[in-house]
Amino acid sequence: MPEGHSVHRLARQFADCFAGQALAVSSPQGRFAAGAAALDGAVLEDARAHGKQLFLDFAGDRVLRSHLGLYGAWSFGGTERFRGASSIGAPRRIGEREDDDDTPADGPLSVPPPVGAVRVRLVGEEGWADLRGPSLCVLETRAEADAARARLGPDPLDPAADPEPFLAALARSRRPVGALLMDQAVVAGIGNIFRAESLFRRGVDPAAPGRSLDRATAEELWAENVALMRTGVRLGRIVTTDPVDRPGIPEERAWPDHAHYVYGRTGLPCRRCGTPVAAAPLEARTLYWCPTCQR
Ligand SMILES: [Zn+2]
Repeated sequence: MPEGHSVHRLARQFADCFAGQALAVSSPQGRFAAGAAALDGAVLEDARAHGKQLFLDFAGDRVLRSHLGLYGAWSFGGTERFRGASSIGAPRRIGEREDDDDTPADGPLSVPPPVGAVRVRLVGEEGWADLRGPSLCVLETRAEADAARARLGPDPLDPAADPEPFLAALARSRRPVGALLMDQAVVAGIGNIFRAESLFRRGVDPAAPGRSLDRATAEELWAENVALMRTGVRLGRIVTTDPVDRPGIPEERAWPDHAHYVYGRTGLPCRRCGTPVAAAPLEARTLYWCPTCQR
């Protein structure tokens, strides 16, 4: 599942490539036909992310709110000008793929027929975006979208975020901190990788009850996720290792083999202490940790 950094990159892509344009909106698959009809021809005013949710703000108090879930993805295509408009470069991960097409470099936009179950297709002046397989795709008013956003915890990628609700949730909960970090109502945008890696980097046992963490540790955990997720936005990959723990491997080449401390490294030696990395399910997702470094 794409974690928050991918969705923030998607929002940036939409803002760069479509904002200010009247978009042709359709639902080739048909499951969003009424919503698409209501949006067709509207100007996209802004694109925002909060956690793993994407908010596309259209003129006329209309918001397309979506969540990719486990299987969803956006794909993009268009002219050279469309590609050049994107500040994130060629998207390359699930949730931000870019399709090749046969449009000549300086030619007019030619939009290919939709392939597969395209829930929503947006077509602008220079390019298009297709959404397939989302877990959520709804048309709402701004007030409805704001209410949905208010049900989410603070987003570490939001420069204006107030971490207090996150800190308070930890302080009062007996649930394992490893579960709280994945609860989108507690903190929004952290998925399985940021969870495992931020807990490792702060030396926190994922099984520790939230309330057992002192305030300073909880604040450090927040700051750690802010830093790791910002790196994720910048690189388009999740790279959490410090240079000292991947000698000779620069940041750009760290992913995938040198990118993580514990995520996906079951049984491999901890990069810091050599203890085999442990793994166990926690609320249906595999949790990874170092039993020595995280106590
Ligand atoms: Zn270790």
